[in-house]
Amino acid sequence: MSTPRTRTRPDAAKATKIAKDEIRNYKLQERIGQEELATVYQATHLTLDRPVQIHILRRADWISASRFQLSARLSARLSHPNLLPVIDAGHDDHFGAYLVTPMLHARLLSEILADGPLDPMLALRITTQIASALDYLHSQAVVHRDVQPANILVTPQGVAYLTNLSLAASPDTPDFSSIDEADYLTPYSAPEQRFDQGESAPSLDVYGLGAVIYHMFSGELPPPPEIDVPALAERDPALEGVDRVLQRMLALQPAARFTSPVAAATMLRQALRLQIDDATDDMEESQWTPSAEWLENPLETVLGEMLDPEFISRSRKRADDLHRAHVLRRLLNRWSRKGYFRRTALGQMVQPEQIVSYNLYTYSLRTLYETRTPPEPRQRPQQEHERASPLPVPPLWDVVVPDVPLFSEVKPQELMLPNSTLILACAECAGVGMLICKTCNGKGTVERMRKIRNADQSVSEVPITVPCPDCRGYGKLTCPHCMGSGHLVEEQVFTWSRQARLWENTDDMEGLPQSAITRSTEAVYTAPINVYEGHWHSVAPLAELLRAAIENVGDNTRLIAAELSIHGTPLTEVDYQLNDTTHTLYIVGVDNQILGDWTLLNLERIALATIFLLLVLGIVLALVL
Ligand SMILES: [Zn+2]
Ligand SMILES: [Zn+2]
Repeated sequence: MSTPRTRTRPDAAKATKIAKDEIRNYKLQERIGQEELATVYQATHLTLDRPVQIHILRRADWISASRFQLSARLSARLSHPNLLPVIDAGHDDHFGAYLVTPMLHARLLSEILADGPLDPMLALRITTQIASALDYLHSQAVVHRDVQPANILVTPQGVAYLTNLSLAASPDTPDFSSIDEADYLTPYSAPEQRFDQGESAPSLDVYGLGAVIYHMFSGELPPPPEIDVPALAERDPALEGVDRVLQRMLALQPAARFTSPVAAATMLRQALRLQIDDATDDMEESQWTPSAEWLENPLETVLGEMLDPEFISRSRKRADDLHRAHVLRRLLNRWSRKGYFRRTALGQMVQPEQIVSYNLYTYSLRTLYETRTPPEPRQRPQQEHERASPLPVPPLWDVVVPDVPLFSEVKPQELMLPNSTLILACAECAGVGMLICKTCNGKGTVERMRKIRNADQSVSEVPITVPCPDCRGYGKLTCPHCMGSGHLVEEQVFTWSRQARLWENTDDMEGLPQSAITRSTEAVYTAPINVYEGHWHSVAPLAELLRAAIENVGDNTRLIAAELSIHGTPLTEVDYQLNDTTHTLYIVGVDNQILGDWTLLNLERIALATIFLLLVLGIVLALVL
């Protein structure tokens, strides 16, 4: 069936008028899958033309309905790069409860696992991301309670999303104590799993994540809790360390498990250290200081594959180098030798307590907005042979405007809406083209008084009749409205203009040497983007930027082009002790500029130089006075 192409305003969305493939502002397209509670459709936001996925609740029982609502409610107030965001939710008279998520090209981990075990590096990557999402949930007093491969989405780039909060335990959770637990337990559920409120601890999710890790490495479902987990080392001795991590994650006693999912993921990373080194081709002997750490920027977690791979690998290599005690010492000593007032042998003085490396990013978005005012009728006299157009009038935004270079501003210009020409009879002259002359009332003549001199030299005035000066005796005038044609042409005219704007934001740089960071920055990404695409909104500073750019869109204004540039700077923080106080120095950029507090200075030499200067000044003053 055909659908109305009108862009509905919310008040126009009367339930009875809605076509069967529209929900509120969304047009439903193909069905793309089925979830436990919902059927998933591809859809388009009608006003924003933004691709989304709509999940429509497909069960009618109260438990499913309350679980679905819980999931929507929790997702709306939570935000983490590895949690699938819910951008809208509601109830439709025809379709029932629905919720909307960004368009995501991803597969369920359960589908991927149908092909067998995962590559250990991919399994580690998924674990790290899901652990980070779970830690975030726990920090928000939410326990997921249903960690399983069917609730994990993985993109082709290896970005993982935890979904489905419909069984989560939180202060919002309705009373699920009456449900039959057997219906909701999976092979990934911890032995102590219950659905009554108050019994849920984060250790449930540690167990669930452990069961998922077992499945990813073995390609097999985890055994029931009372049976010992088969050792992965039997098929691959290199996985012996993973077995030890799993033993703790899948311990029957919750207290014996890791205290947090991230702690477990960190141990898994250590257990796979050798494989990681192989995978990164870094076969150099590693002399890690125990507390050296690489922090992945959320941008790298979410969009890692899109950033300049050369920058990413170079900054990782730089961090690996700086995390080795002797490399750091040599760098600091070299810095000492290059300036007279710098502390000598800084490398010996700085005994690092903690070294943390990460990349900082700045974001700038070049945008171009176009404004088209609603068309307004404009009348003018009809020219010869002008006719009304038989062709349909295109929607305003389908009109092709003159070609101008992208991202250039355009001052407001008028344009006619094609095919909008109407021919109207002129109301002023009733279509005749002529108007009665008001000066002579149509007679063509007017009376004038004329002075004449009588024979006795007296002067008298007599009326005489002369042709009307306005219509020159014709009695009628050409209608000024239609210029005599008797008809008017009415066209729809709109004004269009373009405005370019630049939006900028950065990662949080509070307390960091900002000017050095911005000086050493390098371009890592530049490309046109679709600002409505979900994955760009997964990184907080970028999402803020995009939200600001999107808020600039109005009823008459659209965002027609956007180009994102991302610049990155590698940074290493070194914490060290001096006189029982912790100081921090920063190593910024690939050229390793060193910045810090007064402890980097050679105070003796500064004091000496000051005394010397004062002496010179004293001598000069003595000579002058
Ligand atoms: Zn007229
Ligand atoms: Zn006249």
